[in-house]
Amino acid sequence: MAREIRVRFAPSPTGDLHVGNIRTALFDWAYARHTGGKFIFRIEDTDTTRVTDEYIAAALDTLRWLGLDWDEGPEVGGPYGPYLQSQRLDIYADWAQKFLDQGDAYHCYCTSVELEERREAQRAANEAPGYDGQCRDLSPEQVAAFRAEGRDAVVRMRMPDGSTTFVDAIRGEVSFEHKFVPDFVLVRGDGSPLYTLAVAVDDIMMKVSHVLRGEDLLSSTPRQIRVYQAMGVALEDYPIFAHLPFVMGQDNAKLSKRNGEVSIAWYRDAGFLPEAICNYLVLLGWSPGDDRENITMKELTELFTVERVNSSPARFDMKKLEAINGDKIRALTIDEFLTWALPFMIRAQVITGTDEQIALVKSALPIIQERITRLSEVPAMLKFLFATNFAVEADSLSKVTDAASKDVLKRSLAELTPLTQWTHDTIEAALRASLIEELGLKPRIAFGSVRIAVTGSTVSPPLFESMELLGKSASLERISAALAL
Ligand code: GLU
Repeated sequence: MAREIRVRFAPSPTGDLHVGNIRTALFDWAYARHTGGKFIFRIEDTDTTRVTDEYIAAALDTLRWLGLDWDEGPEVGGPYGPYLQSQRLDIYADWAQKFLDQGDAYHCYCTSVELEERREAQRAANEAPGYDGQCRDLSPEQVAAFRAEGRDAVVRMRMPDGSTTFVDAIRGEVSFEHKFVPDFVLVRGDGSPLYTLAVAVDDIMMKVSHVLRGEDLLSSTPRQIRVYQAMGVALEDYPIFAHLPFVMGQDNAKLSKRNGEVSIAWYRDAGFLPEAICNYLVLLGWSPGDDRENITMKELTELFTVERVNSSPARFDMKKLEAINGDKIRALTIDEFLTWALPFMIRAQVITGTDEQIALVKSALPIIQERITRLSEVPAMLKFLFATNFAVEADSLSKVTDAASKDVLKRSLAELTPLTQWTHDTIEAALRASLIEELGLKPRIAFGSVRIAVTGSTVSPPLFESMELLGKSASLERISAALAL
């Protein structure tokens, strides 16, 4: 029987999920959806000093927001739960004990100070640093002596001589010489498990078929394979590894807080749509096989294959993400756009959210949909419609107070006052006839002053539509007020 495809995303949320995490989650999810397999979400929270409940809750929230639904995991459950490692400590302890009993692992009594001294000596002698095996074969007397000193013991895995070779689905055959993979700790002195133990045990017990994850974890693979061996797992039940290329920043260094925005929460607050983030991130290391850049989630699940993942590093490009976000905004229906835009309007305190305000926002959205690349631009674009104490912005003042502008405003007021129909067409016709045709002004100069008088700023939607939305009396009042400045 063909093996069931089971892919897991297993973050250790020590902060907000970042671009790298989500790129991994997305590839895992897309692969599971493409193959009709299961997408498993596991929280690796054995390091309780760094993973908090808040970060865990935020991780769930982020995945949900992105539309990466999981088939097994927190809040959903599943046949191999629990899916929080902190709730599986007994399982890891049992396996560690089994490894000790089998002689695959041993107690190590070396203190961190001793280990550091010896590493220092290794460095001085130009040897590969790592555990030197001192506690591998302690006699009962030596153990008793260490215990009498009150030393804590860690559980360490014995790494046999030789090497580990496996086929990575992206990189091909990968080999690690064990002289560079020293005996490693499975359980700390306080009894808590380490990542390598927990991740390997869970991948096997949760029947994970594919481990798609970041390249930074490539070097931990031989240790995980060592744990599978100690668990007695048959070769055909090992997961298939696929290590995704690094995501680099513009400066070609690995993307991090230092050279870019990494937190997905930041992108959400900055007005990026989840579809845009997913669309953009999936292109970091994967391509659909042609040069298309606009991919929907549905297309992604149809097209995604590991074979099309590239092994060379991908570069994060904010401009491209913004361009994709703009495309996704333009593809929204007005009702969808409204749903996304309202929280930004409310958070910016431009509106409180009354029905009347919402209706006005909705009627204004079509005129800005073509013009923005982030939802966070909406409040600045539309605030002129809601200003209770309207005033021209300080840095635009000089553009309405000079003599030429005063002329333009005076003429505009005279032409607009008699209009009986107030639509963008009638407004445009009136202003064009007098300012452009009669006065012979350049449109930018003529309409620029009116724009600032009416919207208060140079950042605004198209002028005539804006004036129609604002209404005749408010528009004329604002032009009069600018004349009085
Ligand atoms: N929990 C690990 C991390 O967040 C990843 C585990 C894995 O994918 O193997 O770095």
